[in-house]
Amino acid sequence: MRFEIKQRRLLSLSLILIFALSVPAQQTRIEQSAPNVERLRSHITYLASDALEGRRTGTEGANKAAEYIAREFAQYGLIPAGGSLSEAHTGASFQKFPFVAGVELGRTNAMLFTPSAATSGATAQTRATSLDLRLQEDWMPLGFSMNGRAENLSATFVGYGITASELNHDDYASADVNGRVAIALADTPDGDNPHGQFARYADVRWKAIAAREHGARALMVVASEENFRDERLAKLSYDNSAGDAGLPVVIVSRQSAQRILTTGGLAPLADLERAARERISSTSSSAAVAVGANQAHKPLALPLQNVSLTIAVDIKRREVPAMNVIGILEGSDPQLKTEAIVIGAHYDHLGRGGSGSLAPREGDIHHGADDNASGVAGLLELARIFSAKRARISRTLVFIAFSGEEEGLLGSSFYVNHPVVPLEQTVAMINMDMIGRMRDNKLIVGGVGTATEWRDWIGMANFKAAPGGLVFTTPDQPNGPRHPISELPAGASVNGSIIGTPKFTLTLNEDGYGPSDHSSFYAKKISVLFAHSLFHRKYYSLN
Ligand SMILES: [Zn+2]
Repeated sequence: MRFEIKQRRLLSLSLILIFALSVPAQQTRIEQSAPNVERLRSHITYLASDALEGRRTGTEGANKAAEYIAREFAQYGLIPAGGSLSEAHTGASFQKFPFVAGVELGRTNAMLFTPSAATSGATAQTRATSLDLRLQEDWMPLGFSMNGRAENLSATFVGYGITASELNHDDYASADVNGRVAIALADTPDGDNPHGQFARYADVRWKAIAAREHGARALMVVASEENFRDERLAKLSYDNSAGDAGLPVVIVSRQSAQRILTTGGLAPLADLERAARERISSTSSSAAVAVGANQAHKPLALPLQNVSLTIAVDIKRREVPAMNVIGILEGSDPQLKTEAIVIGAHYDHLGRGGSGSLAPREGDIHHGADDNASGVAGLLELARIFSAKRARISRTLVFIAFSGEEEGLLGSSFYVNHPVVPLEQTVAMINMDMIGRMRDNKLIVGGVGTATEWRDWIGMANFKAAPGGLVFTTPDQPNGPRHPISELPAGASVNGSIIGTPKFTLTLNEDGYGPSDHSSFYAKKISVLFAHSLFHRKYYSLN
């Protein structure tokens, strides 16, 4: 193995990071510059305590955790950097980001279905035939729907409402939905098959994007459940990672859809569904012909005749504070300190359950000791140790405890769009998520394919961390004396042999994407590392 010694500054950083929690439990020596088991334990004990109620984003428990982390950062002398770096000295360490804790129905939701070619100047007679659809019984707005009122619109049935250019499929290809309501079937032609070619378009968010991009004024999705009360999309919820749809989006019961479609001159719903499926599955096209599509295998877009729709959506979003906690340790090298390395761990967890949890019922606290009080404890220890060694730290270190991770990497997504050090100067991001349950010395490191140096550096660090450290022999005396790696003068390189025993059994994954906050950074083309111990049975259940 050959390496340049000028890499050593970063090498020692990744070394300390990855092996920060490797201190044997029996070690009692308290050292300011070494990871301390008691400190790690006390961080985890507090963060995972009942008092913090599982640290769900936007809750009191999460805010208490944020305050605890901010206090620790302050004790280590980190610069609080919730705002921009220029105001860092006066600002707090909280970086607030928008978060919706819940949605509820407002007062002005309405859907009116008028079975005639109504216009805004419709006569009293045609108005008399209008039918109010009952909120919650016949229809519901979706949580991510735009609020607003769309009046007396024509409508077009657009099959599954999928635009998938890589599949050469566009349900809107022959449809003019401009200024109209697009009526789409839920799900995909693949049915329940999660591996079907259209599976990734099943999410109603994609349908909303397709409808909006084709100029629709509103999207009406037809329920797939016969009983509207069983319909998943009819249960009002909000996905913070998706944001507003940009147009009203509603779901209607199958019975209401049937009435609207047949009144508009189209075939019964079941026939339309069969036609939409068969058109794609390239089998019999008889159904498509039967309902009036001109050609088989062509998009099935059918305008409704003599029907107009009025849709008013009123969703109240309950916004609550959510924040990342950011502390900066300025590098000591006059040149290199303009470069930053982000070290992160999310502090939020699942609170008292709900979606995403395997726990048997809602209400019990998910303490999240491993996920991710363990990572935060590691983060705090690294912040403490590095601040004690500041003179030896060349680059600026940005310590971030993220929130909103469990809700879809919200905190880290917000950070990369509002960084306290510009991303062009951010050379790497190192993430810790679930590092508390190491078994048999097994450690997983992801993201090693995101920088050419990672693999070598991690390999080196793994040797260096082992008892006895890392030694080398010189090329002229391969079996000669062994020198500790620390004896290498700055700027020297080794062409001889590196000798040592690895400390950990490492599993290295190339991918820079993964189920945690480093993904947000890798998406911005920043090199990442992701350290975690083996997944275990208690993942995402009560631990
Ligand atoms: Zn996690």
